[in-house]
Amino acid sequence: MAKYTPMMEQYLTIKADYQDAFLFFRLGDFYEMFFEDAINASRELEITLTKRDAGQDEKIPMCGVPYHSAENYIKNLVEKGYKVAICEQVEDPKTAKGVVKREVVQLITPGTVMESTMLNERNNNYIASVSHFGDGSFVVVYLDLSTGESRIAHVEVSFDRVIHELYNQPIKEIVISSNLPEVLQKQLKDRLQITLSYQDEVTFNGEYRDICENLNDERLVKAFSRLLNYVQFTQKRSLDHLKRAEVLELDQYLSLDMYSKRNLELTETILRNKRHGSLLWVLDKTVTAMGSRMLKKWLERPLLDKVLIENRLEAVEGFYHAFMERDALRDSLKSVYDLERLAGRIAFGNVNARDLIQLKKSLNRIPEIKELLVTIDNQEIVNLANELDYPEDIVRILETSIAEEPPISIKEGSIIKDGYNDQLDSYRDASRNGKKWIAELEQREKQETNIKSLKIGFNRVFGYYIEVTKANLHLLPEGRYERKQTLTNAERFITPELKEKEQLILEAEEKSVDLEYTLFTEIREQIKSKIPRIQTLADIVSKIDVLQAFATVSEANNYHRPSFTDNRLHIKNGRHPVIEKVMDDGTFVPNDVELDEKKSMLLITGPNMSGKSTYMRQLALIAIMGQVGCFVPCDEAELMIFDQIFTRIGAADDLVSGQSTFMVEMLETNHAIEHATNRSLILLDEIGRGTSTYDGMALAQAIVEYIHHNVKAKTLFSTHYHELTALEDSLPKLSNVHVRAEEYEGNVVFLHQIKEGAADKSYGIHVAKLASLPENLINRASVILNQLESKGSKVDGNNGEVSEGTSDQLSFFIEENVTENNKTLNDDEESIIKGLNELDLFDMTPLEAMNELHRLQKLAKQKWKTK
Ligand code: ADP
Ligand code: MG
Repeated sequence: MAKYTPMMEQYLTIKADYQDAFLFFRLGDFYEMFFEDAINASRELEITLTKRDAGQDEKIPMCGVPYHSAENYIKNLVEKGYKVAICEQVEDPKTAKGVVKREVVQLITPGTVMESTMLNERNNNYIASVSHFGDGSFVVVYLDLSTGESRIAHVEVSFDRVIHELYNQPIKEIVISSNLPEVLQKQLKDRLQITLSYQDEVTFNGEYRDICENLNDERLVKAFSRLLNYVQFTQKRSLDHLKRAEVLELDQYLSLDMYSKRNLELTETILRNKRHGSLLWVLDKTVTAMGSRMLKKWLERPLLDKVLIENRLEAVEGFYHAFMERDALRDSLKSVYDLERLAGRIAFGNVNARDLIQLKKSLNRIPEIKELLVTIDNQEIVNLANELDYPEDIVRILETSIAEEPPISIKEGSIIKDGYNDQLDSYRDASRNGKKWIAELEQREKQETNIKSLKIGFNRVFGYYIEVTKANLHLLPEGRYERKQTLTNAERFITPELKEKEQLILEAEEKSVDLEYTLFTEIREQIKSKIPRIQTLADIVSKIDVLQAFATVSEANNYHRPSFTDNRLHIKNGRHPVIEKVMDDGTFVPNDVELDEKKSMLLITGPNMSGKSTYMRQLALIAIMGQVGCFVPCDEAELMIFDQIFTRIGAADDLVSGQSTFMVEMLETNHAIEHATNRSLILLDEIGRGTSTYDGMALAQAIVEYIHHNVKAKTLFSTHYHELTALEDSLPKLSNVHVRAEEYEGNVVFLHQIKEGAADKSYGIHVAKLASLPENLINRASVILNQLESKGSKVDGNNGEVSEGTSDQLSFFIEENVTENNKTLNDDEESIIKGLNELDLFDMTPLEAMNELHRLQKLAKQKWKTK
């Protein structure tokens, strides 16, 4: 077999190190791809697949993209989760002997993109890593290369927690060890659907000593090193803008598992993964992109520390009342660019002069913002103002050096101001004088020759020339000009004098362009050394932006400041912040919530579509908003600080993991029951729907009882099993509420009002009618219902009198209500003994005896198990 050409050999050697990436191989003005890469890229990018001779008998597949438009193609691939290795010529082809030397200069991966066109400005772009340790603990690291921030958290106990932690974060790539057990790798892939990358080397790199200062644990250092090594390997350049890693103590934040994050639609909707329709969408009245990113981070991690929460609320209150100042502040913030990402790009070396002008303009707003804030009569805001540190030295550097309206390119001059550098000024003088001389020459020649249309022009090939139209040629004196070029109706000439000046001008221009580039990189380096100050400033500006956003949204939507008490919830006229916005017609019906230690559970009944789910979510959202430091949608709120919120709210099947609704329901419920404390909030919405009635009802009741006795969390439990309302009598901390609906001329009217007590009926058929099912179907259903109701027995929760007959849902409840009668459910062994004692065996049929024994045994079993 013939051998590959030397260049192809080079390609193959390099490709061997980048198996999992598209290798963009620089060939002249193109990046070429070969073999499999070419086939796949032509499909993904919809570009033509060609063939190329590579030294062998058969040609090989090839495709390519022009160097100048490569960014879009790279973006396209990276957005699809692929990696792209950029392989450049690293020596001058003109002087190279043999094949030009090439090297990969950067591996662009979904988690490491820096180009602003590839980033969503209102979202962080994290690359994460997960490391496991022998003791069964895990460490999760987040790094946003574009902003330089990183956060590190220990996750104890289980891998499940790791998934819950990572879920719903803007992570584009996860770096793991190839030794992470296969099953866990699979879970990451299946449940999170994020690109996985491997990095086994975790040796600490001394260059990063400073940013690792906070890491007081060897595991944290190792885990962080894994990610840093990977980033270093892919980027192959300075990472000077990385901020000191922040250790994230997960137990200092309200914990939301992945189900709740999704169910509550905090940052995106369940169905379409859209920001529109989420809580973030309502609350995001930030002005800057960095503020918007910070708001999202806050929303994902509500606080537990009352002092910190109150500090935020206090500042929000300040902004709320100072609406003139707030307006002015919002105006100033509009001219503050994304300082965080600018800092990142400065460190990376990919800023241009325009970026630096943006930086200058942004920094120049700081004094006025500061001035504005100190006039507000609010200590928290004044404190923030005092933290704003105006980096005058940076502004001064930029003010004297960078031209006000520079071009995009940094290699074509016109970016440095006059007077900044003497050498540059002298080049510029030379060029300007030369040009002036040429302008004068033009005047002179015009006069001497009397040709009005004579002009001096310039092009890249011939340089400066004198142009005379053919009609005027006869006016030119003989021998003074040298003909250079003939056009259809003009001739172009040069003179030795003109060429001499041209030489001077071009030389001066070339030198000044080179010098400008050098000066620019020097300025960039100077600014680079001040990145930490810019970053700190960015952080405080973001915070101010979020707090003013809270005030703005609170004012616009009539929210009120909550207060916090220990173990009590009192919400007057609470509203669902998103639904009231979506409805946007002021018809949302507000509702109260009252819960405390004595009454910790609400059992919610009411027809379909009446507002049960809305009421439940509303409570969770109000709690989260409060703990984030925002005012809340209601007239009055006393909240308690929840440590965790769990939700099981009727959602679509968990299609991603391929589990059935019922299984997901049980998983979510189990997760809640296992982890909740008496400081938690649990929302269970229509548990048990996914299985048969008896099954479902039995489970629902058992779950309510279990939470009541063992978990003691504040709980809202909605159900379509009316029979469960009888539990109010046996479970002292449980109260019935219902959503009011009224029948009006045979139609149901939803009032969306929460009232005490149980609902009287379920209105299922009415709802079916609303949905326009055929009329005779509806009539038939009414007949069947009548039959069932007259045959069946009505359970009265208070005395448990059960009429004869078998209803479709009752056998289970006949038992329960007999126990009601004896007031024994879960009471104590006395009742069981008493029950046995009072049995009149001679007056019972064998079947009755059997039933009664079964009942007592069940009680006994319950008792010994729960104790
Ligand atoms: P359920 O869970 O009882 O079936 P939902 O909570 O899903 O009902 O509410 C159904 C619809 O009723 C909501 O989409 C909303 O349009 C409307 N709704 C719910 N609560 C209210 C309310 N308090 N005020 C006005 N409309 C409401
Ligand atoms: Mg519902």
